[in-house]
Amino acid sequence: MDFAFTHEHEELRQTVRRFMENESSEATVRTLMETEPGYDRRTWERMASELSLLGLMVPERHGGAGLGPVELAIAMEEMGRVLFCGPYLASAVLATGALLHGADEAAQRKLLPAIASGKSIATVAVTEAAGKWDLASVAMRATRVGSEWKLSGVKDYVLDGHLADALIVAAKADDGLALFQVEANASGLERHALPTLDLTRKMARLNFSSTPATRISAGEATGALKQVMALGVTMLAAEQVGGAQRCLEMSTEYAKTRLQFGRPIGSFQAIKHKCADMLVETEFARSAAYHAAFAIADGEDGFEAAHLAKSYCSESYFHAAAENIQIHGGMGFTWEHPAHLYFKRARASSILFGDPSEHRLQLANILEL
Ligand SMILES: Cc1cc2nc3c(=O)[nH]c(=O)nc-3n(C[C@H](O)[C@H](O)[C@H](O)COP(=O)(O)OP(=O)(O)OC[C@H]3O[C@@H](n4cnc5c(N)ncnc54)[C@H](O)[C@@H]3O)c2cc1C
Repeated sequence: MDFAFTHEHEELRQTVRRFMENESSEATVRTLMETEPGYDRRTWERMASELSLLGLMVPERHGGAGLGPVELAIAMEEMGRVLFCGPYLASAVLATGALLHGADEAAQRKLLPAIASGKSIATVAVTEAAGKWDLASVAMRATRVGSEWKLSGVKDYVLDGHLADALIVAAKADDGLALFQVEANASGLERHALPTLDLTRKMARLNFSSTPATRISAGEATGALKQVMALGVTMLAAEQVGGAQRCLEMSTEYAKTRLQFGRPIGSFQAIKHKCADMLVETEFARSAAYHAAFAIADGEDGFEAAHLAKSYCSESYFHAAAENIQIHGGMGFTWEHPAHLYFKRARASSILFGDPSEHRLQLANILEL
């Protein structure tokens, strides 16, 4: 496996970094996280028109950039660095992945161009009351009524489900798990934004009551949904690397300038070791996340690499975010300092799509233990 970034990759990173630093300042994050939609429509449209970011993985024939998981991981890492607020993970990663892996040509033709252009925001609804992306526990039923399908049941913790224009829903049909598309204004659909610990990432509960739906998966969708999860987990891991890197930068910048007892606190062994440990863990996390992205790009299923990345990146981001608070002393505990925003993102991301112990359990299963 070629495990190196090209010149084009580095240019993409610099472009996304510049854009994100301008459009996702701390002040913008704090403003958006208090709003119900949780994102800025104008920035979202510019991400499509100026950077082609929303359709990074969408094939060119469907109006996208035709790139792959490595480029997507670079974008996610840069968004994680600045706590970007927007439905990117839902629309550009999960929904795009579900359409590419599990949907028929008609659904791809209808939805992918709209996602890539920013006209439509899409999300994927798999999780139910247990809060787990566990395909065996999907209870929602899809019933065929004449030529139409109807969905009934509840989907929980749906990323940006309160605002998405198109919902891609996993439900049980007679022939197994299938994917359905539901319009945002469909009859019998109720959407409720959920309170979240991490205000920078929005989630919703969706109630379906004989809600009309279009079946978009030709056959059984379990395999496709596993691929979507490997992609989603890998991209979340890349985002975690960006967040951990920013915590490390904040800590080291502060440790060099904060004087106590007439010396920078970074000259004290206790602070030195904290920063060095953060660096070691962030670099290991980076390798794990990049490895997973390159594995998927290489055509592997990426399951093992994705589980490894998510378990390691979750722990290193959480540790970096917690240490960042400690290194900033009393100021790190205050609302005014951004350290708590990273801490909450790190905590919530650690649980999203399964906590580290769940991913380790999957790795043990792969080892046939
Ligand atoms: C919830 C809360 C309530 C508070 N309430 C009060 C209050 O009522 N009254 C009040 O006066 N203050 C209060 N404080 C402030 C508190 O006393 C200070 O935050 C604390 O003394 C640490 O000082 P600092 O914030 O300047 O951190 P710093 O001294 O700048 O420390 C920053 C980091 O450097 C490390 N460090 C500093 N010196 C050394 C060293 N020599 N060797 C190794 N590591 C070092 C620290 O452990 C820390 O990780 C409160 C703080 C908090 C969090």
